[in-house]
Amino acid sequence: MRLSRYFLPILRETPKEAEIVSHRLMLRAGMIRQEAAGIYAWLPLGLRVLNKVCDVIRAEQDRAGAVEILMPTIQAADLWRESGRYEAYGKEMLRLKDRHERELLYGPTAEEVVTEIFRASARSYKDLPKNLYQISWKFRDEVRPRFGTMRSREFLMKDGYSFDLDQAAARHSYNKVFVSYLRTFETLGLRAIPMRADTGPIGGDLSHEFIILAKTGESEVFCDRAYLDMPVPPPSVDFDDVAGLQGVVDSWTSHYAATDEMHDEAVFAEVPEASRLSARGIEVGHIFYFGTKYSTPMKAVVTGPDGQERPVHMGSYGIGPSRLVAATIEASHDEAGIIWPDAIAPFDVALINLKVGDAACDAACAEIQSGLETAGLSVLYDDRDERPGAKFATADLIGLPWQVIVGPKGLAEGKIELKRRASGERETLDPVDLPARIR
Ligand code: ATP
Ligand code: MG
Ligand code: MG
Ligand code: MG
Repeated sequence: MRLSRYFLPILRETPKEAEIVSHRLMLRAGMIRQEAAGIYAWLPLGLRVLNKVCDVIRAEQDRAGAVEILMPTIQAADLWRESGRYEAYGKEMLRLKDRHERELLYGPTAEEVVTEIFRASARSYKDLPKNLYQISWKFRDEVRPRFGTMRSREFLMKDGYSFDLDQAAARHSYNKVFVSYLRTFETLGLRAIPMRADTGPIGGDLSHEFIILAKTGESEVFCDRAYLDMPVPPPSVDFDDVAGLQGVVDSWTSHYAATDEMHDEAVFAEVPEASRLSARGIEVGHIFYFGTKYSTPMKAVVTGPDGQERPVHMGSYGIGPSRLVAATIEASHDEAGIIWPDAIAPFDVALINLKVGDAACDAACAEIQSGLETAGLSVLYDDRDERPGAKFATADLIGLPWQVIVGPKGLAEGKIELKRRASGERETLDPVDLPARIR
């Protein structure tokens, strides 16, 4: 992609309304634009990152055996009356009426809809287990939308729902998601710690929040430092191995970790002092097992091997991709801008032409771009007629993992420069060696 043809509305000034660094950088780097309070447009650079986060989530969900669907964002109020949540949900729910005065709502979550879909076809225990997930926009009329896409009113959520015959089977489904979330955050380059959590309006009794430690986090958290370097299971982890998965979950819940709602000062005091960590955190994922809370009132039943009908045991599992984009920046930036982890960088390489119009520079850049793209790397080519300083600043701000710098002096000796954004390390090399060096 040539920058001159791209849409990258970079802001020179630091926007005053942005209180935290990720919000400032997302606005400055032209990733998002606010259209109404807590409602954002995703611009090309931001959208590429958001899509990559979703790709990582999808790959891990699919690996764990979950199946993707897409449910409507607009839901019928009557469905929520079946579960008893329509009145209870309160002001966070955006309620609408159509031209026939029928009551609708913009979904803040989808337990009711998915239970309706499931009960329409499932008949027997042979239809189980199932885990259906979607990645779709949610709306919650937050009291205080703030921090950009970290706490917006319209936001993207991956929400998954599991259906099982009994509690033991549901526990295995819960563990599958638990492990897939550990892997997802690891792939995204983030350390997320599962913490015992309150089940809130979703209800139920088994729940973990996945929390990233960050000074600007809205949650107060308490945990054992042991979680900071605990190994995450590899891609080859066997999701059908019931005991094996339980073992992973047991070790990832063996040390103290709790959010303020669940915090127990006395138990925390038993953690050796040097391991005790009290910090701020960002909730990036949340999983629940809630048994038959929805299946009983909504009559989502199957017949068991004994021929008896029974309500299915359910769980629900959420990750916020739009919040994760911001959380990643909170965890990975410097004074000059964003530092994208390789897995979700909007492009792999910023190709910087220091002298646009110079025949040798232009030809070398065109060749480098096509060489890198052929090798499967994505390139944002800065072919604008700008000063080198402005180009370097843009490249640092938008945080692509690699910068390839092409100027007349180096080219005269057949050399170009390669800079790693994260470390600032530079090296000079022959352009033909680039693809191999980068990947
Ligand atoms: P919070 O405590 O931050 O309000 P929540 O507990 O209400 O979040 P859940 O219902 O557990 O959120 O939703 C699952 C995930 O969706 C969260 O872990 C988070 O990643 C994301 N999420 C929730 N609310 C928002 C929001 N307003 N903006 C962006 N992402 C959100
Ligand atoms: Mg909330
Ligand atoms: Mg929460
Ligand atoms: Mg939550």
